Amino acid sequence: MHVLVTGGAGFIGSNFVHLLLNETDYEVTTLDALTYAGSIENLDGTLDADRHEFVEGDIRDVDLVSDLVSDAEVVVNFAAESHVDRSIDGAEPFVSTNVQGTQVLLDAALNADVDRFIQISTDEVYGEIAEGTFSEDDRLNPRNPYSATKAGADLLARSYQTTHGLPVTVTRSSNNFGPRQHPEKLIPKFLTNAAQGESLPVYGDGTNVREWIYVEDNCRALLTVVEEGKAGEVYNVGSGIEKQNIEVTKAIIQAVGASEDLIEFVEDRAGHDQRYALDTTKIEALGWEPQWSFEEGLDATVEYYLG
Ligand code: NAD
Repeated sequence: MHVLVTGGAGFIGSNFVHLLLNETDYEVTTLDALTYAGSIENLDGTLDADRHEFVEGDIRDVDLVSDLVSDAEVVVNFAAESHVDRSIDGAEPFVSTNVQGTQVLLDAALNADVDRFIQISTDEVYGEIAEGTFSEDDRLNPRNPYSATKAGADLLARSYQTTHGLPVTVTRSSNNFGPRQHPEKLIPKFLTNAAQGESLPVYGDGTNVREWIYVEDNCRALLTVVEEGKAGEVYNVGSGIEKQNIEVTKAIIQAVGASEDLIEFVEDRAGHDQRYALDTTKIEALGWEPQWSFEEGLDATVEYYLG
């Protein structure tokens, strides 16, 4: 089987490429524009593999995408602008890559008659939830420009299933952490700041809750979806590990052996969702379950960033 992985030089995509090459016999093509968020170093150890080709390019490039998709049986679309704060500063690249780029990929997949199109969506498309968990049938209620564009892509992909019969599957995962994440994101940023004795800027009062999944667990869930998931379905991918941002911050401080005096509460993010949480019954029925505890994942992440 030949899998086209877009955004495969980014955080989750690169971990997925490593997993595919280490644990399957699939051929893999990675397409990535190497924006500020992507890094070829994330693919170290894969670039010489016979089964892997890396292509630097943009998912909005119709000719390039048509060419690459025509060689693939499965497309997994990770490529996106992914940082909420940047989407608040300016939404244009988010609309362009996340929505229009997905449309280019979907059209190419339709023309090439691929076996499966997997759209990587996010728990943020549901918006916030005070209690309980979101299931896949809950309505989408994105509340920031990033999640609104991800919801647009999610709905567009599903519309290609219902309108054109394209075999689309969508995954919506919770917050990932682990190796190869860009240092602007919370856990790598706080780890490196804490190690250097720099302040840790916590939004608002730090009580916002996120569900943290170790990236390898999410990648294994995605492989399960490639192999066992059904076309036309949406699968939530979460760990059940809920933590307030201040708890994560204190765990990082403890792991690094730094002082809690480094914590600095700063003005809250505009439209900051209070809590996300997912019901994962549906993907667990495919035989997947998370393996990593938060503590094990954090230890592995500390080891990656700080050696
Ligand atoms: P990331 O920012 O680390 O990686 C995104 C990759 O996409 C980068 O390598 C970048 O170079 C590439 N890219 C951006 N625009 C492109 C374009 N126009 N053409 C080709 N490549 C382009 O993001 P991530 O954290 O790895 O997230 C991957 C996917 O998973 C995204 O779709 C994101 O919305 C989704 N997601 C992420 C999380 C999380 O916690 N990180 C949670 C749920 C869902």
